[in-house]
Amino acid sequence: MKIVNTVAELKASIAAFKQQNKTIGLVPTMGALHQGHASLVSRSVKENDVTVVSVFVNPTQFNDKNDLANYPRTLEADCQLLESLGATMVFAPTAEEIYPEPDTRQFSYPPTDTVMEGAFRPGHFNGVCQIVSKLFMFVEPDRGYFGEKDFQQIAVIRAMVKDLKFHLQIVPCPIVREADGLAMSSRNTLLTAQERQIAPAIYKALRRSVNLQQTHTVEETKQAVINEINAVEGLEVQYYEIVDAETLVSITDWNQAEHVQGCITVFCGHTPIRLIDNINYK
Ligand code: AMP
Repeated sequence: MKIVNTVAELKASIAAFKQQNKTIGLVPTMGALHQGHASLVSRSVKENDVTVVSVFVNPTQFNDKNDLANYPRTLEADCQLLESLGATMVFAPTAEEIYPEPDTRQFSYPPTDTVMEGAFRPGHFNGVCQIVSKLFMFVEPDRGYFGEKDFQQIAVIRAMVKDLKFHLQIVPCPIVREADGLAMSSRNTLLTAQERQIAPAIYKALRRSVNLQQTHTVEETKQAVINEINAVEGLEVQYYEIVDAETLVSITDWNQAEHVQGCITVFCGHTPIRLIDNINYK
């Protein structure tokens, strides 16, 4: 497995792979890798000749300086895991390498980037589009792998791909969870033992609510989830929205959309750690 830190080295390797007509899968990550990331990488290794994994804590997508400073960084362990999974190449650049000049590009794909995370983390999806568009331009992958843990992110990236006419397939991958249901996340390592113990209540409430759709309205179901989670000391729901899975617009009637997703963000503990999760209703 090759580890490169510069765009020039990355592009030179990509050019060689393309010359050999090899298919390329790209897995963008911010490192501190876990089994959720591993599932994306394994899928790419299965479906492509070459798998490129980027490990880059992208500063432009953080709207909270402390969150950026505290974000876990474990490049050595990440590379060991990626090698064991059969990745071809790791791209681990510095921020200066990616942004030699401030990125002034503005991306706007309403409503996908204005609701939920877009509303509560201003500028977040603009930063995501900045880094992902650069990675797509550098790597020119045949397939890009993204986790459904960041359900809204996939919708925003699909909108960007359509807008900028990137020629690749976006491959959504299911959420990988801990045994107790907590969605795996790099930020989980920041939870105290006590916080880690209460965090699974989020997915428990989501799962329980799936059955409610037979007997309850969308609004009642939404409130049931919020109340159940807020009843746990140390957890506080920032938002819970039940949305059309394609447009991400909130629905008021179960029949309003063909596919329906519930998307949640919860503050856990004193710091607090911001945890996101989502569930499919239909
Ligand atoms: P991140 O390093 O958090 O930016 O995540 C990199 C990619 O891994 C994104 O596409 C995430 O959606 C995906 N990912 C993160 N956690 C999980 C998980 N628990 N299950 C599936 N995919 C995940």
